Amino acid sequence: MSINTSQPSEIPDAAVLQDIANQLFKTLPEEVPKDFSLDPATHPKAWGVVEHVLGGNIPSKIEIPAVNPVSAVQTPPAFGGFGGSSTGVSSLTGFVPVIENVASPSAVNPPYTSGIPNSVAGSGASPSYAKQGDSFNINKPETSFPDENIASSKQQQDVRADPLLYPNVQIPFFENVSDFLNINEVLQQIRTSEPAPQIPSFSDRFIPNSYYFLPEDAFHEKVNYSSFGGSLGELVRKDFPILEERVNGRRLIWFDNAATTQKPQAVIDRISYFYQHENSNIHRAAHELAARATDAYEAAREKVRAFLGAKSTNEIIFVRGATEAINLVAQSWGDQNLQAGDEIIVSNLEHHANIVPWKRLSDRKGLKLKVIPVNDDGELLLEEYAKLLTPKTKLVAVTQVSNALGTVTPVQQIVAMAQAVGAKTLVDGAQSVSHMPINVQAINADFFVFSGHKVFGPTGIGVLYGKEEILNATEPWQGGGNMIQDVTFEHIKYHNAPNRFEAGTGNIADAVGLGAAIDYVTKIGMEVIGQYEHALLEYATHYLKPIKGVRLIGTARQKASVLSFTLQGYTNDEVGKALNEEGIAVRTGHHCAQPILRRLGVETTVRPSLAFYNTHEDVDRFIAVIQRLSSRK
Ligand code: PLP
Repeated sequence: MSINTSQPSEIPDAAVLQDIANQLFKTLPEEVPKDFSLDPATHPKAWGVVEHVLGGNIPSKIEIPAVNPVSAVQTPPAFGGFGGSSTGVSSLTGFVPVIENVASPSAVNPPYTSGIPNSVAGSGASPSYAKQGDSFNINKPETSFPDENIASSKQQQDVRADPLLYPNVQIPFFENVSDFLNINEVLQQIRTSEPAPQIPSFSDRFIPNSYYFLPEDAFHEKVNYSSFGGSLGELVRKDFPILEERVNGRRLIWFDNAATTQKPQAVIDRISYFYQHENSNIHRAAHELAARATDAYEAAREKVRAFLGAKSTNEIIFVRGATEAINLVAQSWGDQNLQAGDEIIVSNLEHHANIVPWKRLSDRKGLKLKVIPVNDDGELLLEEYAKLLTPKTKLVAVTQVSNALGTVTPVQQIVAMAQAVGAKTLVDGAQSVSHMPINVQAINADFFVFSGHKVFGPTGIGVLYGKEEILNATEPWQGGGNMIQDVTFEHIKYHNAPNRFEAGTGNIADAVGLGAAIDYVTKIGMEVIGQYEHALLEYATHYLKPIKGVRLIGTARQKASVLSFTLQGYTNDEVGKALNEEGIAVRTGHHCAQPILRRLGVETTVRPSLAFYNTHEDVDRFIAVIQRLSSRK
């Protein structure tokens, strides 16, 4: 069915509209009311839409065919009743142009313009019109748009005066990140009143070691810390309100980034905006807020896809975090595909999250778990890895950056070697995504996991990336709503990925918050972040290493962020407490990576871990405490 509203002569009259609607309702599931009334007495707003569609040329009284009064009263607001099932709604697309042509502000407001999903196709319109009582006026958004949020800022209030200007409203987190071509421009966009410093071009910078995960032209002989390193951290830290906290009378220095990262104001605002203006369950309703929430959630998925360089959003599954993602793969793909006698390889560097699920699966199914060893610096021994690979190897699961030592592993090579024996691969990106650019297609692993909270996003949200054909051939992990196409008591048909693995109501708001975090780091550029942190890590290592009594744990040539150490004469907790007294937060303990610490002869370490909002001054304050402790022994 199609209704062309562009030619007034083709506009159906009210009775036809009502008849069409009722025919459609009859095709919808039982819970959707089957009769629809255009009687102005019951639905003044719906009538407003009709009035608009008919161009105001309607007689003062139209004979409405008699309807069942009970069902007319029960019918939910006007066109909103079109909802119910995605199939039902998408078959109504003939109606959507009617909605769009009436210039619903919700339909032209930028966050909701692009790609309102078909599953909520009715959402651009109906409930808004239905809620405004007799004051409905199609040309005045404030009478038809229940979302009062737009009035919250001066700029938006101005725009609001003219609904045609709505498309120009820019909300900070929807800016087009591709506009930012160089770092100085980017820095000027970052929330600060201070002028952005001039950051030297790559060729003016001096970085000591070559890091294969950073671009070639960044490698030089010596470090110019003050010009490059000093500025970025100073500038971005203003975006992180928690970094203004005082701990024991001192400005907080957050050196526990490997455990979790702090959140920029843009992320905090985005989550707050979601709950103020968009909150709804997704995918399953036909109302306005469902559309907003769905748009925001799916936009976040697209941001993750771009951030990881994945081929398709179908490869991006929202989960609780890296731990849940690995458990998902173990309990779905692993359970389905691995048989007694098959072998799984992990490395000695792994976080418990990438050991325990595989060990449990191995114990349950009679698999063999093999371990890639490391040298005394904490570097993986690839020649030993090569010896472990056999035709029985079915999975290789390795971290890209060790959370306990900071070692960066050559995942691309590890994956390629695994593929040579036909094994599938999983890369744990929990510690890498916040420190270096990632491209899952270049890495070519079958699965890649990370946690949002380690990349300046919220806790409770993370990502499993998987190659689409593998995901679609894998049994779902959990069953429930959202992941099925059709259910009877005899038969269940699942959706393909990603819904297949997103049973039930997920963490919608925090997925959106993660999207904002990705926008934030993308604006600065992961390469720039990696360069800056690299310089900062070199600087910290340079001053920590020679302090009497310090033993660095993890001295790989390729490292990111982490500086594990012990200090002779002190327990690690004593060092941690002394740092805390100076407002410096570090982690002490086994860091959920007992095998690697034991391999290097310790049970625990002190672990400062850096992020791009840390500064050289932060490092200096940290070094001063360790020097003072050392000098007392
Ligand atoms: N993998 C690595 C390397 C980690 O460092 C961590 C957390 O520290 C995890 C996995 C688990 O992450 P989450 O606790 O966010 O699931």
